[in-house]
Amino acid sequence: QKAEWAVLKNEATVTKDGHAVELGANIGTPKDIAGVLENGGEAVGLYRTEFLYMGRDQFPTEDEQTEAYAAVLKGMNGKPTVVRTLDIGGDKELSYLDLPKELNPFLGLRAIRLCLEMPDLFRTQLRALLRASVHGNLKIMFPMIATLEEFRQAKALLLEEKAKLQEEGIAVSDSIEVGIMVEIPSTAVMADVFAKEVDFFSIGTNDLIQYTFAADRMNESVSYLYQPFNPAILRMVKMVIDASHKEGKWTGMCGEMAGDEIAIPILLGLGLDEFSMSASSILKARAQLKKLSKADMESQVDHILSLSTSAEVEEYVKANLLNA
Ligand code: PEP
Ligand code: MG
Repeated sequence: QKAEWAVLKNEATVTKDGHAVELGANIGTPKDIAGVLENGGEAVGLYRTEFLYMGRDQFPTEDEQTEAYAAVLKGMNGKPTVVRTLDIGGDKELSYLDLPKELNPFLGLRAIRLCLEMPDLFRTQLRALLRASVHGNLKIMFPMIATLEEFRQAKALLLEEKAKLQEEGIAVSDSIEVGIMVEIPSTAVMADVFAKEVDFFSIGTNDLIQYTFAADRMNESVSYLYQPFNPAILRMVKMVIDASHKEGKWTGMCGEMAGDEIAIPILLGLGLDEFSMSASSILKARAQLKKLSKADMESQVDHILSLSTSAEVEEYVKANLLNA
């Protein structure tokens, strides 16, 4: 199987009926780029920048960050590169950032909430991203967006920093897409409204599932509620994809679900544009997608979304859509 997959390394991801999708990788550091290219990644669909801030005793400077982001963009050599702004809080803490203890950190001051609360910290990252933008195909993504105001505020800060840099005579790319993660149900429900203002969506199913089922993703006792195939999740995924396409925008997925062989046929049928996963899953996913027909999957999606439980969906896909 490995040999069968290896020949797919330099191929585009095109289904049996000629529909192209993009297979990207999730990365944590610039060092991961080698693995992305070795595994035939067409993009970076999620660069988790928080690792740049972790395991040290002070914030990374603007220059340090610029260097890391430029390294990733140069390494990807013009391929789409989605960089997520700082997603700290929840389970990820910084030793040098002394924040009040929270009873429910996953429902607390994390990710974009923290960045908007500490704008200087956020502005430094945005400046670094903008300065690095001339080195590749940068797309900036804000995590944990729950309301349209959060997106507007974050984007306004980005545009302010861009204007400042331009005044300082520093070159900035003019084609940076600005998108959001959809990992909070409110945002999935309001996707049609967001779609008018964002350039793209990336569905973060790890958190979207946790917040939809109100089940801590780290808590083993409720792990049965991690249900990517539950129609509740599939219907939200459909809403997001449809809303984006209606406005001529694209939708990716960067949660674990994107690389799952049971999810892939459904996501193809729903019209997902970009699948982002760990680099080691890319070739297997490409092999699977090349054997599937988009039209065929589209014709089955209504039935799948009408099923009642996660188990029913899983059974249906296993019986009908695997080993095509
Ligand atoms: C997600 O929530 O699905 C996601 C990709 O982000 P993280 O796993 O970093 O929270
Ligand atoms: Mg998340």
